Amino acid sequence: MDVKLTLMDTGYCQQLEMFSRKGGRMKNIPFHAIAGLIEHPVHGLLLFDTGYSQRFFEATSKLPYSLYGKLTPVFSKAHESIAEQHAARGIQTTDIAGILISHFHADHIGGLRDFPHARLYCFESAYNHVKGKTGWAALREAYLPDLMPDDFEERVTFIDRGELVALPEAYAPYTEGYDLFADQSLYIVDLNGHAIGQFGVFLRDRDHGDVFLCADAAWSSEAYRGNLLPHPLAMLIMADRQAYREHLHRLHVLSRQRPDMKIMPTHCGEVWQASRGAFTWRS
Ligand SMILES: [Zn+2]
Repeated sequence: MDVKLTLMDTGYCQQLEMFSRKGGRMKNIPFHAIAGLIEHPVHGLLLFDTGYSQRFFEATSKLPYSLYGKLTPVFSKAHESIAEQHAARGIQTTDIAGILISHFHADHIGGLRDFPHARLYCFESAYNHVKGKTGWAALREAYLPDLMPDDFEERVTFIDRGELVALPEAYAPYTEGYDLFADQSLYIVDLNGHAIGQFGVFLRDRDHGDVFLCADAAWSSEAYRGNLLPHPLAMLIMADRQAYREHLHRLHVLSRQRPDMKIMPTHCGEVWQASRGAFTWRS
């Protein structure tokens, strides 16, 4: 079943390009935090991650969380939050039926609290890894507990408690995943590595064909096209370095086998360009 995907830019942080991939310049580049609005014909409006919001700045106003903003300065204006972008289009926060949380880094859950009626979908392994963490322990995981809704556990569905199914062959070398609504519209695949319990989503956009939202399994399209690992210093922050390498290689193989597929890392400059309306893609 086809869906409609709209990409939304919620702001950016700055990082040296050399950290993001081998061969990158020693130059600060913006890492935009892109979220996706998925219009599902049966299940309504869903989000893939929620990017930044002004809540990020409140959550990082005090030590030790303020170090987060010092290490990676964040630039996000109030009108860039998903809630405000939706308001400008006449979508109420209560219209969002579900949010797919790829992982719990703060630049992916910044807007979670803005959607009080949404069902929350994540991997149990990801949630268990951050659950209850505060202070330094949270900061080490790039996790800000203040961004989490108080009733998270009442609204969550743990995707990885479901049944693994074989993926369509066209998604090789990815072979198994979770068919979220059992209608073949959203296939969730394990991308553990960058963060514990990270996942990505295969979907078919009704206008643009096959898309793979691969979260932070790569930081740029250049990285998966060339199978270019991040700088060794940046690799230190990966939760499971071996798994990260394997998934980056898998993304690389996928991109070679399916040049038509839009493989979208959350922070990629090309995805950001696509979010600005063009949705054109280089393969
Ligand atoms: Zn991340």
